Amino acid sequence: MKVITRSFQVETNGHTDILDITPQVSQALSASELKNGILTCFIGGSTAGITTIEYEQGLRRDLPELWEELVPSNRGYHHDATWGDANGYAHLRSSLVGTSFTVPFVEGRMMLGTWQQIVFLDFDNRPRRREVIVQIMGE
Ligand code: ZN
Repeated sequence: MKVITRSFQVETNGHTDILDITPQVSQALSASELKNGILTCFIGGSTAGITTIEYEQGLRRDLPELWEELVPSNRGYHHDATWGDANGYAHLRSSLVGTSFTVPFVEGRMMLGTWQQIVFLDFDNRPRRREVIVQIMGE
């Protein structure tokens, strides 16, 4: 068994920006030349998240709207009172989504559903450059 760690950068607009990172993750898997195992995508950050969704225009609007209902950006949070960076909601959304996603791969192909893309969510209140880690374990 081998463990291969790669990374790639993404530029986001913040404000619950949703990026389809499936191509970059697939690329990392191909480059690893591993055929069977699991891979984990991870973001080392506390105002972003990684999950899956069908990456189509309706859901790309629905998801930020849902987040606005669940964890409103215009409410005062204790975090904001402490640090003054006004992104308490972004930290909370990140906690709920989680900052990693794991998927098995077989014969070099991730076992994602046809309409299932891996998405990077940037909840922060400003544009960010982020580094996504992809760790691939297998043979
Ligand atoms: Zn903060």
